[in-house]
Amino acid sequence: MGPFKLNFFNSLISMILYYTGLSIISRKTVGRNGKYILMFHGISKSKRKDIPSYIQPHLDVDEFEHIIKWVKHRFSIIKPEDLLNPKSNGALFTFDDGFYNNYANVLPLLEKHEIPGLFFITNQHIKDSSHWLSFIQNKLNNANMDIENIPNITKKDYYNGISETQLKEMADNPWVTIGSHSETHADLTTCNDLELELEIIDSKKYLENISKKPMEFFAYPSGHYNEHVVKLVENAGYKAAFGIDRVQKLGLSKYEIPRIGIYESKNYYLSAKLSGLYQRPLK
Ligand SMILES: [Zn+2]
Repeated sequence: MGPFKLNFFNSLISMILYYTGLSIISRKTVGRNGKYILMFHGISKSKRKDIPSYIQPHLDVDEFEHIIKWVKHRFSIIKPEDLLNPKSNGALFTFDDGFYNNYANVLPLLEKHEIPGLFFITNQHIKDSSHWLSFIQNKLNNANMDIENIPNITKKDYYNGISETQLKEMADNPWVTIGSHSETHADLTTCNDLELELEIIDSKKYLENISKKPMEFFAYPSGHYNEHVVKLVENAGYKAAFGIDRVQKLGLSKYEIPRIGIYESKNYYLSAKLSGLYQRPLK
């Protein structure tokens, strides 16, 4: 997904919940039983002061490692297979869009801290690693900065996709599960049936062909879906599908699993978002 501002749950509310102890009390009561599906995107090597923050990934590796430690200290960590088991409780780490930095920066930390990760891949990003996803290209086009001034190594770290070879290597890693995030990151509610076939069915075949593993999970680009899209996702053989922070609640629970987008690493922010108050944990 693209830039996503959480006006509803802004820093002020998070701080109040944290410093009054409410987010902690809530986590230990309502927030204790259930599952939290955490949603991440790109994680950069480091942030740069000379580049506007809105065209950089929200988190860098140091912030991400802090989040891992914070979550691991307070929650059990679950695997994608545990999702459909009502008895397993804890946090699941998911990553959207198939950024090269997921391979270069995220995977080493997951291995180090023994965290399973579910990576949703947008295939266009894999077939041509430097063909940046449209929401990124749009942000860059609108940015108050000449993109030519960003060093190539930074562009790769911030915007490129994973290569096919790297994706294959990831799929073979015991800490990694691959899922589909469509072919082109299109808004699926505006696609015709031919386009939906490409985005939902062909994207699955492509990833299965590379990974030699079944694709069981799908994440709707930018969280957009409707009943027709859900039907096609189910018929394609996916076992579950994910939205973003707010889902429509069409009553198709396995195919509209909400996630909690994590865009900051401060303790009060994490405490509020994983308190059970921002989103009730899933059963
Ligand atoms: Zn996305």
